[in-house]
Amino acid sequence: MREHARAETPPDTLPLKIKKKKKMAAGIPAVTSSLKHGLQNMGISRTVKTLTMVNQQEGFDCPGCAWPDPSHRTQFEFCENGAKAVADEATKRRVTPEFFSKHSIQYLSMQSDRWLNKQGRITHPMVLEEGSSHYVPITWDDAFSMIAGEVNKLENPNRSVFYTSGRTSNEAAFLYQAMVRSIGTNNLPDCSNMCHESSGKGLGATIGIGKGTVHLDDFNHADVILVIGQNPGTNHPRMLTALRDAKLKGATLIHVNPLPEAGLERFKHPQDYMKMNLSSTQLSDFHLPVKIGGDAALLKGLIKIHDELGHLDSKFIANQTGGFDSMLEKARDTDWNAIVRDSGLPRELISEVGQVVARSKATIACWAMGLTQQPNGVAVIQEVVNLLLMGGHVGRPGAGFCPVRGHSNVQGDRTVGIWEAAPVSFIERMEKGLNISIPREHGYDVVGAIQAMRDGAVDVFFCMGGNFISATPDTMATAEGLRKVGLTVQVSTKLNRSHLVTGKKALILPCLGRTELDVQGTGPQFVSVENSMGIVHRSTGSLPPASSHLRSEPWIVAQLSQHLFTNSPIDWSGMVEDYDMIRNLMEKSLSGFEDYNKRVRLENGFLLPNPPRDSRTFDTPSGRAHFTTHDLPDVRIDDEQFIMMTIRSHDQYNTTIYDVHDRYRGVSGNRRIVLMNALDMAERGWKNRQMVSITSHFEGETRTADGWQLVAYEIPRKNIATYFPEANILVPLRSTAKDSNTPTSKWIKVTLADFHGDEEE
Ligand code: SF4
Repeated sequence: MREHARAETPPDTLPLKIKKKKKMAAGIPAVTSSLKHGLQNMGISRTVKTLTMVNQQEGFDCPGCAWPDPSHRTQFEFCENGAKAVADEATKRRVTPEFFSKHSIQYLSMQSDRWLNKQGRITHPMVLEEGSSHYVPITWDDAFSMIAGEVNKLENPNRSVFYTSGRTSNEAAFLYQAMVRSIGTNNLPDCSNMCHESSGKGLGATIGIGKGTVHLDDFNHADVILVIGQNPGTNHPRMLTALRDAKLKGATLIHVNPLPEAGLERFKHPQDYMKMNLSSTQLSDFHLPVKIGGDAALLKGLIKIHDELGHLDSKFIANQTGGFDSMLEKARDTDWNAIVRDSGLPRELISEVGQVVARSKATIACWAMGLTQQPNGVAVIQEVVNLLLMGGHVGRPGAGFCPVRGHSNVQGDRTVGIWEAAPVSFIERMEKGLNISIPREHGYDVVGAIQAMRDGAVDVFFCMGGNFISATPDTMATAEGLRKVGLTVQVSTKLNRSHLVTGKKALILPCLGRTELDVQGTGPQFVSVENSMGIVHRSTGSLPPASSHLRSEPWIVAQLSQHLFTNSPIDWSGMVEDYDMIRNLMEKSLSGFEDYNKRVRLENGFLLPNPPRDSRTFDTPSGRAHFTTHDLPDVRIDDEQFIMMTIRSHDQYNTTIYDVHDRYRGVSGNRRIVLMNALDMAERGWKNRQMVSITSHFEGETRTADGWQLVAYEIPRKNIATYFPEANILVPLRSTAKDSNTPTSKWIKVTLADFHGDEEE
C-alpha cells in the first residue's frame, strides 16, 4: 500500500514581511515584476519574443484570465500577471524522467506548491504504477491502451469522470466532450462549477443567457460602473485600462468589496511612461467595504433608493419584463436596520451611492467570485439584475452585465459542450452533429464528482489540465476520494499537487502549451478561445515545444478515442490532421458557429449570439427579462465566530503560485496568513504574526488547520481573509451555493484559537 502523499501544500518557511498596503496598481513595479519573471524563466530573447506575441492578432491568447483584447492592440498587449502566466508556461526549466526517478511522490508532496511549479515543464508521458512511489516513463500508445482498457471494462460508463480546466481550447474541449459522450456519460465537471456557475444560473433564469451582455467599448459609454466582489488589479489587470478610460470619460466607479484593493484605488498604465505621461488615475469614486455576505443587503438598499427616487425605465419594465411588483414589494418590506446591520454600511453611504445609481443613464455591473461563491450566490447576482433592470440597463450602449471570467477559455469550454447538465435542446443538436446518441441523465459537477469518488463510485478520473486537488474545496475529502479511484489521468504542462495525490494508478500526459507551435498532418494549426464578452478568436503558438514528446490536447483526445472506439462515426484521426475539420463539426453541432472557419480567421474573430446585448430580447420561457424576489440571506454568526473568505495574492494565478509577494497588500514571504481587523485582534490580545489555528463550522461538522499568522488589515469586523488554495482545507464539501452547487469559498463560518506550534500536536 503506497504511503499517502501530502494533500495540502506545506507552508513556505520564508519570514513573513508586512508593509503598508499599496494605494496604486501597476506602474513601474508591474514592469519590473514582468521582466523579472520573464528573465528568470525564459531569458532575454524568449522574453521579448513571447511578450510581443501574446494577445496579438497572429500571436497566442494569454493563458491567464479571459479579459478581452481591444480591437486596436498596443505592441505590449499584456499585464503583469499575463506576463507571469506566459513566462511560467514558456519556462526553460524541465521536469524529466530523471527528475521523477530521483524524487518519490511523497518527497515531492512535502515541497510547497511554489516549489513544485518552479520545477518546469513535464517532458515525457509518465505512469505511477499501483503501490509504486515513483513515476516512470510510458509510451503514448501504452498510456492510451491503459486508459481505454480501464474505460472499456467499466460496467457503467458513469463510473468514469472527465474534468476540464478553463485553459482548454474550443477545439480540444469540443473533441473531448464528443469522446466523453461517445463513452456514454455526461460526467463533465469543469472549473466553472467552482467559479461562475452561479452567474450562469442567475443570469440564465432572468435574461435567458448565462453570460455577460456588454462589449469592451460599452465601458466608454457608461455613466456608472459597479465592480462587486472582484479584484481586477490582480485577477483581470487589463480591465483597469478600460476603467481608467471610462473614468476619463466621466464615469463614476463604485467599488464594492470588504477589502480596499489597490487596483480600484489608483492606476498607473505602465505604457504611459513611454508617452512621458507620469500622471496616474484615481479609479473608484466610492469604496463600499461591505461585510462578507452583505452584498445582498446593500443591493436591496440600492433598489429601495432607486424606487424612492424613481428614474425607472417604466416602458421597458412594462413591455419587456416580469415580476417587477413582487420584487419591489419585497424591497419595500425590507427593514433598513437589517440592511445596515447585514451590509455593515451606514444608510447615508448607501443612500448617496443609491442616488448615483438611480440617476445613471447607463450602468454596467461587473462581478466575480466575491458574489458567485456565496451561499446565496445565485440570488445575490439576481439582485444585481433587479437593480439594473429597474433602469433598463441592458442591451444598450454603456449598460449591461459583466461577470468577468478568471480563466482564458472557461466560457468557451461551456459553450462548446463541457456541460454536465446541458439542456435537451443542446444535446439533441449535438447528437445530430456528431451522429451519436447521448444519454439524457445529467452528469456530476465538481462537488458531485468528489462525493462520487468518496463513495467509491468512480474507477477512472481524467483531468484535461488544471490542478484538481488544490482547486477544489475540502482538501482532505477530495484526497480521500481521489485515492479510491482506480486510474487518474492528468493532461498537464507543469508539475502540481494533483500529480502526487492520485488514484491507485496514475498517468501524466504532457501537452503543448498555448505559446507553442502545434504542427499536425496538414501543417501548423491554430486553436480558438472565447473571452468574457463572447468573442471567439484565434490563438496561434509559435515557440518550439518544450519537448519533442509533447502532444496537443486535440491530438491526445483523438488518439485516445481511437483506442477507445472500434467503429465511431467521428473521424478522429482526420479531425487532428487539420483543425478546420473539428471546426466544421462544431459548426454542425453547436448554434452560433456558422461559417466558423471563415469568421474565426477575421481580424478580431467573431461575436457569438447574445439576444439581450444584440436585440434587447430575452430567450426565457416568457420571452421577457425577469425580476426575482429574494429574502435577505441569514448572515448571522455566533459571538466567537468570524466569516472567512479565501482570496488570491498578486503573485498567483488560481492554484499556480508564482511567488510569495502579495505586493499590493504589503504582505510577502509567507502565504499561511490571516488578514484580520486590528480591533478584533486587540480584543483578543493578538498582534501581527500571532500564530493561530482556524476551525470551520458547518452543520455540526468542524475542520481545523493550524499554524496561520495574523496580519492586521483593513477588513470589516468579524471578517477574515485567507489565501486560496491553502484555506480550501477549511471549506466543507457540502457547503455550496443554492441552485449552482458552487463551493462557498467566500463565506465560511470559523473560529480562531491561539496556536503554539508543535507542542500542540
Ligand atoms: S488581463 Fe488577463 S488576459 Fe489580459 S494579459 Fe492580463 S492575465 Fe492575460
